[in-house]
Amino acid sequence: MKIYRDLFKKLAHQYRVSDPDSFNLKDVDPKDTGGLEGGDKDEAKKVLEDAKHELRDLQNVLYADDKWSILLIFQAMDAAGKDSTIEHVMTGINPQGCQVSSFGVPGPEEMEHDFMWRCINKLPQRGRIGIFNRSYYEETLVVRVHPQILEGQKLPDQFKREEIWQERFEDIRNFEKYLARNGTLILKFFLHVSKEEQKKRLLRRLDRPEKNWKFNVNDVHERQLWYNYQMCYEEMIKETSTEYAPWFVIPADHKWFTRSVVASAVEQAIESLNLQYPRLEHHDHEKIKRGRDLLENEDD
Ligand code: AMP
Ligand code: MG
Repeated sequence: MKIYRDLFKKLAHQYRVSDPDSFNLKDVDPKDTGGLEGGDKDEAKKVLEDAKHELRDLQNVLYADDKWSILLIFQAMDAAGKDSTIEHVMTGINPQGCQVSSFGVPGPEEMEHDFMWRCINKLPQRGRIGIFNRSYYEETLVVRVHPQILEGQKLPDQFKREEIWQERFEDIRNFEKYLARNGTLILKFFLHVSKEEQKKRLLRRLDRPEKNWKFNVNDVHERQLWYNYQMCYEEMIKETSTEYAPWFVIPADHKWFTRSVVASAVEQAIESLNLQYPRLEHHDHEKIKRGRDLLENEDD
């Protein structure tokens, strides 16, 4: 078991983009399972269970320590498994210490603000884990693939220029650096699914009545822009992979594999903070003693 645990931690490290200049999305095979085969699936599932237990403990210390915040960002094409990965990785964690925020098409109030605003509002407090299911990165993805979306934004025309994408990357890097310097540990996951696997999953949504609700014909339209999206993802990853807010590009054609790698990456990152429960001072020991005396000598 330990062998698998260590292997997944190693894999998580491997999928972290450490040399953004030479990063090429084509080098990551969505079908990759890190050398594991179908027969290893049960062991991979055990890794996920173990990592979940570990995460629960880590989250408790995180909460007690009350200094760091954890921000996990998930981006992917439709049906890559964002929702289910988030669900699997976070079940087991105390719901009071964790909040998931999803970002869809901006509404009228959101359109009245700068593009980070709605995400800033959802940043995790110290001691908590915040999960973004999509994020401000959509502003360099869907908005870039569909120029009419940018056209429709209430940004002054003079800023709607060719350099806008580079400017957004710069703003995002600066923003994430700011968060990191304020004690936010940021991990970003791109779940990399293949076009064929997406097709299978979208068809499954049509075939299975209980999955029908998830089907959105728009996903099929977006799929036709697959290569534009891949180019945007690649550039986004190259431009915003930093030491303080790394991207992990995780193969996503096999869900059992994706989930265990993500859980291992999160576990490893929080572990590296070396968090400790706050130590009691001398006067705290006094308080504990007094509390015990009071409780034990209480009149019924
Ligand atoms: P879902 O995650 O399936 O509920 O879909 C949410 C949709 O909102 C996706 O199609 C996203 O591309 C879209 N979306 C998210 N953020 C933005 C944004 N800033 N501008 C336009 N569309 C967005
Ligand atoms: Mg969707």
